[in-house]
Amino acid sequence: MLGQRTFRYIGQRTSRQIKAAALEDREVVYNKTPREVILTREKERGLDMWQQQWSNSTKGRISKAFFPSVKRRLSRKVPISPEFTAMTTGHGKLRAYLHRFRIIESPICPCGQQEQTVNHVIFDCNIVTRQRNDMIRKIQEAGGKWPTMRSTGLQTSKYFRLRPRYRLHNSVKHQT
Ligand SMILES: [Zn+2]
Repeated sequence: MLGQRTFRYIGQRTSRQIKAAALEDREVVYNKTPREVILTREKERGLDMWQQQWSNSTKGRISKAFFPSVKRRLSRKVPISPEFTAMTTGHGKLRAYLHRFRIIESPICPCGQQEQTVNHVIFDCNIVTRQRNDMIRKIQEAGGKWPTMRSTGLQTSKYFRLRPRYRLHNSVKHQT
């Protein structure tokens, strides 16, 4: 018959074995990096690479002026519309663009002042003075400054209301 001491001995041995096995299976390591830290680090690394490629690229000159920082662009909700895309890429019914592809003869804006480029429409064109003033007021109300770097202006992108579609469409129609 097994005595009390024997039971205690078996009990102690078993618990020692269990502890040892547990330690073996789930080794406590203090120099392992948590999963979240690795994910954050890799995301940062990816963004740095993306930024480097974006900065070094010779493509997307106009978009780059609006969005110089990949990180900032991703952190911002931008109201995508055909007009907005046309303005931030330069690929739209702007006369300078259409002229570049030999679709129309002259790149000059119907205002007669300059070529109808993105910069001209945003900053100078007197055809959209009312829309520009409206935009400037809203940018200033939101704490922004005018004149502004295009990238800074887009911090208030929800107020970007140049609505160029109608006017640009018409301006092209009138002069072709
Ligand atoms: Zn103009």
